[in-house]
Amino acid sequence: MQVMKEPVTQLMHLEAFSAWEDIVGADYITIDSNDLKSANCATFLTHKKARAILYPRNQFEISECIKIARKHSLQIHPVSTGKNWGYGSKVPSVDGAVLMDLSRMTQILDYDPILGTITLEPGVTQQQLYDFLKQENSRFWMDATGSSPDTSIVGNVLQRGYGHTPYGNRWEHLISLEAVKWDGTVVKTGMAAIEGAAAAKVHRYGVGPCLDGLFSQSNYGVVTQITIELMPAPEHFEAFFFSFPAENLSDVIDALRPLRMNGVVANAVHIGNAFKVLSGIRQYPWEMTNGEGLPAWVINSFKKDWGFNDWNGAGGLYGTKKQIREYKRIIRKALAAKVSKIRFISARKLAIAKRMGGILGAVMGMNINQLIKLVEPVFGLMQGQPTATQLRSAYWRKRSSIPLKPDLDADDVGLIWCSPAASLLGCHAVVLDKIATEVLDQFELEPIIAFTLLSGRLLSGTIGITYDRRSDGADRLAMDCYQKLSTQLLDSGYPAYRLGQLAQP
Ligand SMILES: Cc1cc2nc3c(=O)[nH]c(=O)nc-3n(C[C@H](O)[C@H](O)[C@H](O)COP(=O)(O)OP(=O)(O)OC[C@H]3O[C@@H](n4cnc5c(N)ncnc54)[C@H](O)[C@@H]3O)c2cc1C
Repeated sequence: MQVMKEPVTQLMHLEAFSAWEDIVGADYITIDSNDLKSANCATFLTHKKARAILYPRNQFEISECIKIARKHSLQIHPVSTGKNWGYGSKVPSVDGAVLMDLSRMTQILDYDPILGTITLEPGVTQQQLYDFLKQENSRFWMDATGSSPDTSIVGNVLQRGYGHTPYGNRWEHLISLEAVKWDGTVVKTGMAAIEGAAAAKVHRYGVGPCLDGLFSQSNYGVVTQITIELMPAPEHFEAFFFSFPAENLSDVIDALRPLRMNGVVANAVHIGNAFKVLSGIRQYPWEMTNGEGLPAWVINSFKKDWGFNDWNGAGGLYGTKKQIREYKRIIRKALAAKVSKIRFISARKLAIAKRMGGILGAVMGMNINQLIKLVEPVFGLMQGQPTATQLRSAYWRKRSSIPLKPDLDADDVGLIWCSPAASLLGCHAVVLDKIATEVLDQFELEPIIAFTLLSGRLLSGTIGITYDRRSDGADRLAMDCYQKLSTQLLDSGYPAYRLGQLAQP
């Protein structure tokens, strides 16, 4: 019997492949070893492999493909654009699954310019949505994450990822979704499930139990479209940038909490440590260190040159000019004694700085043009403008230079995100920082840490284990580091809010 099993299985798979080919067309199914090699590669060591890739183009094809998979007892792993970098990229959660790549489904199915809602297919990218809203001259902004402009909205929402605007907690702004379940039938969530409901586009809960949560971080079905809320563009926007020494971390977080809670600071403020900032500016300074750890004098010299500190934050202010004047006063008062520097930047100020960078820099003794390069993308992100600049930080430990079109999987970038969640209390930030720094130090890796004030009550940490996959033994070392770090975080009460293909210890 054992001898017979393998040929029978292969025959069944051949039948499945040919049935899928009939549905999606020969050009949209592959078992080519190069295609599979790139699909089975992540930014860290993984062992599960997809056996084939399907590229359906609509809900009907998805449903038919699923029925065939079910008939042949094959598993499907859906991805939207498959750039879940740092969490497992496209690699399937089950070994031998068939990857269902939805990047061909790029339609914007509905846009309501009055209510500010939009319905998207899984392949719609951040850049595509941004361009669409621009072209529509929309009064609404999308939310943008720090990942590539070519990443999807759907995959990120389903992972409960977050961006930089007041709608940064993306899952909160989901209205409804449609998904194909594993029996091939379609489920619609929210009021949209009721044919002809006037509130279909705006009522998330509809009637009865809420089903949408079943399809996030779950693999309980293939989501074929989502409807989300867009943010009304404010009359005026300004950003604030601040920096402070390590000993003030707890105080600054506690000072920001009430401002985040009462809406003075409406967006998900991000606070990054010196390594986070430095990795955004340049790659590891091999020439200054011989790769033997980063001495304090090196990091201090960069801090001095670029004007950053142990911790550095950015937030957005949204409202009328009058409101923002008042917000600035409140923020200054709350942070003045705790930060070493705080700067408010409007579009006008940024434009002047760009025009006069050279002269201003000479007067102030700083490289303003250099600084603008750092500030401008963040300024844009807080207004929902996607940028590829943040991807540069993932190449921190690479010895080769950063390519013009980064593809973290193909470039053998090593990156594992560890994303613990905590209550928004300064003491938690201090403990998270201490655990992460101690563990990464033991592995001779820089602790690249950021905190996000996701709401007035929720703090999210993002710790990046960043390395070069081409370096001998680095994959194993990074995974050991991740295991140690996530175990210690879990034991201390800080489980991750998101795992992707990473294992919770
Ligand atoms: C430098 C850098 C910065 C980053 N910044 C951010 C950030 O600011 N915020 C953030 O959240 N992330 C960030 N990321 C992580 C990641 O790149 C993004 O979350 C990205 O949006 C995920 O990739 P994707 O959109 O291609 O999703 P996909 O890879 O397509 O999907 C992710 C997972 O969701 C599920 N899924 C996807 N589509 C479907 C579907 N249609 N039906 C059912 N399940 C589905 C699958 O399990 C899939 O593996 C960053 C990464 C890097 C390298």
